[in-house]
Amino acid sequence: MRYVSTRGGMTPCSFTDILIGGLAPDGGLTVPERYPQVDSATLETWRELDYAALAFQVLQPFMSDIPESDLRPLIARTYTADVFGSTDIAGLNKLEDGLYLLGLSNGPTLAFKDMAMQLLGGLFEYVLARQGRDLNILGATSGDTGSSAEFAMLGKSHVQVFMLSPEQGMSAFQRAQMFGLDEPNIHNIAIRGVFDDCQDIVKAVSADGAFKRACRIGTVNSINWARVAAQIVYYFKAYFAATRQVGEAVSFSVPSGNFGNICAGHIARQMGLPIRHLVVATNENDVLHEFFRSGDYRPRPSIEVHRTSSPSMDISKASNFERFVYDLVGQDAARVRALFGQVESAGSFSLAGTAAFDAIQRFGFVSGSSHHENRLQTIRDAYQRFGRIVDPHTADGLQVAQTYREPGVPMICLETALPVKFEDTIVEALGIPPPRPERYRGIEGRPQKVTVMDADVEQIKHFIRARVTAFATEN
Ligand SMILES: *Cc1c(COP(=O)(O)O)cnc(C)c1O
Repeated sequence: MRYVSTRGGMTPCSFTDILIGGLAPDGGLTVPERYPQVDSATLETWRELDYAALAFQVLQPFMSDIPESDLRPLIARTYTADVFGSTDIAGLNKLEDGLYLLGLSNGPTLAFKDMAMQLLGGLFEYVLARQGRDLNILGATSGDTGSSAEFAMLGKSHVQVFMLSPEQGMSAFQRAQMFGLDEPNIHNIAIRGVFDDCQDIVKAVSADGAFKRACRIGTVNSINWARVAAQIVYYFKAYFAATRQVGEAVSFSVPSGNFGNICAGHIARQMGLPIRHLVVATNENDVLHEFFRSGDYRPRPSIEVHRTSSPSMDISKASNFERFVYDLVGQDAARVRALFGQVESAGSFSLAGTAAFDAIQRFGFVSGSSHHENRLQTIRDAYQRFGRIVDPHTADGLQVAQTYREPGVPMICLETALPVKFEDTIVEALGIPPPRPERYRGIEGRPQKVTVMDADVEQIKHFIRARVTAFATEN
């Protein structure tokens, strides 16, 4: 399988060539030249596979330059009951007839990002060892991504993580999760500032080409293709759990921010999985809902982003959306380049009244948005009707899903985090705190390891350089 850019300006590359890079050199996103096709007979043979075996079948065509004898054990080491809490890895829970919750949040950081990030950790280590080099991941986080990345890179050779977070910006639980790690290759830096300051520092450091090369700086953000690919697997897993035979259709509802999760659902559908609807659920930040309704794509400036009680979806510009637009316009890279050029010059584009807009329906996409009061009400309803506490993001998905339920078509809502990560909102909705998994009891009281620093790019570079040098010497 070779990879190209959505904007057409990249020589086709192999999977391991694009694994560690970010954007394609022309500013586009990397996509496979074509999607592998799975026929019904093959699908039926996958029904009984366990998660790791299924993941190998789904992912192998995308990662064809990794030999089977390496890829199979790497995947098997990733998706274990030990790491994900059950042999199912992603279990399907029935709420009532026709309505299901897909449990994707039982990994180390209790959010669905672990499903992909854990595999990414293994893949990075493998590829870096083969290339005989180190990588220093620099990131900014306001919560889920940073801890998921750190837990994925724990104890991995050839990789260090430098994660910036706003000193006051995370919940006590999230701080305890990240700063509770005491590992030589993980460096938490709390910045005296807000999340935007952290992100600005990452941008400034990455813009210094000489420093970036000398310190071998990389990222693990949501445009990483391997993360999207790893997420395709659980759409297949859920399909088999909700149906009896191939040919039956299911729908998925996906709480969406950067559009990575639902993009994986779209790819599963393009590969031949019988998916009827892909429901894009947004919160008050409803750029995507607006697009799917009207064809107008108008990302907001970051100052207009609402801070909501489903914070992992507070996003102004969905970074994976371009991968979907590429398919909508029939993989016409010149058109993608023109459309996103228009976003840069004029702030928006519109597909209203074009064949590309009609393709939205062909691709099964529908959408809706939710707001704080809906979210609280959905959390209360789910608790009263199903005895189940859902996190605020999952609640957005559950609420929008209601509009699109159809008789005979199971609606599968993706559970993107466990409620314990967002205790305040649960208490606001229910008056009681959510249950806490045993291994997280009292984590706020455990020792924490973090360096507090000013939002000063030179000081941060100095901090990184010293640790990069020491790490290289030890290895
Ligand atoms: C990241 C995240 C999302 C959004 O997923 P995208 O792939 O960015 O669309 C939704 N819910 C939770 C809890 C998340 O952490």
